[in-house]
Amino acid sequence: MITPRTTGIIGVHLWGRAAPVKELEAIAKEHKLRLMFDSSHGFGCSLDGALLGGFGECEVFSFHATKFFNTFEGGAVVTDNDVLAEKMRLMRNFGFSGYDNVIYPGTNGKMTEISAAMGLTNLEDIGDFVETNRRNYHCYRDAIASVRGLSILEYDESEHNNYQYIVMEVAPYFPASRDRIVEVLHAENVLARRYFWPGCHNLEPYRSYYPHAGLVLPNTKLVAERVVVLPAGASISQQAIFGITTILRTLATNGNER
Ligand SMILES: *Cc1c(COP(=O)(O)O)cnc(C)c1O
Repeated sequence: MITPRTTGIIGVHLWGRAAPVKELEAIAKEHKLRLMFDSSHGFGCSLDGALLGGFGECEVFSFHATKFFNTFEGGAVVTDNDVLAEKMRLMRNFGFSGYDNVIYPGTNGKMTEISAAMGLTNLEDIGDFVETNRRNYHCYRDAIASVRGLSILEYDESEHNNYQYIVMEVAPYFPASRDRIVEVLHAENVLARRYFWPGCHNLEPYRSYYPHAGLVLPNTKLVAERVVVLPAGASISQQAIFGITTILRTLATNGNER
C-alpha cells in the first residue's frame, strides 16, 4: 500500500489487542515513514508486558464515553518526543504562548473540569472494571465454545487486557447469516452491532473519492461481513449473558427459519 505520497503509518490496537508493533517498526524504518498508533481501545492493555502508550512516535487514546476509560469526551496523545509534545500543548490552546502571543496554529482542545473529574473517578475503579469485563468475556466464551460456527475473539491472558469488547465471528457455514443474527438479537432487544461495517471506504465522502478502494481491501471486506460485537460492560448481568447465548444457540439449531 506504500506509494511515493505515503508519509506515515497508523497502527491500530484493535479491540485492545496490540498491533504488530515490531513488524510495523521494521516497515516504517525501511521506507523512512513516521509511525504512530491509534490506541483508542488500548487503555490498560499491554504488549510483551509493556503497557500500550509508549510505542511509535506517539500513541493517541480516546476517552469517549464508549471506551474502556472514559471522561465523557476527550483523549490523550502520549509521546516522548519533546518537540511534538510542545506543539500539541500549543495546539490545545489556540497556539497561545503566554498571555497575548499566538505562535502556532491551534484549536480549543482543552479538557473540561467535569470531564477530568469523571476520569479521576473512573481511575479509582479501573481494577473492578477489568474484573467485571473479564468475567463477562469468560461467560460469553464458555457459553459459545461448543457452538460450531461461532467464535469469540480471544485475548492473550498472559498480557494486561481491558476485555472491553466481546467480538464474535460468524463462520460462513453457520446456519444463520451474520445479518440475520443481528436482526434476531435486535428483535429480542439485545443491541448487538455489526462493527466497522460497511467500512469507511464504502461510505461518503470516501466512497466517491476512492471508488476502487474495495479492490485493495479484501481482508477488510471479509472480516467486516462476519463480525458482531455483543453487549458488554459493567451493567450487564451474567443472567443477561446466558439469555443472549441461549438465543445464539437456538439460531445454531434453527438457522434462518422464523
Ligand atoms: C473511538 C475510536 C476513535 C475515535 O475516538 P474519539 O475520541 O471519538 O475521537 C478512533 N479510532 C478507533 C479505533 C476508535 O474506536
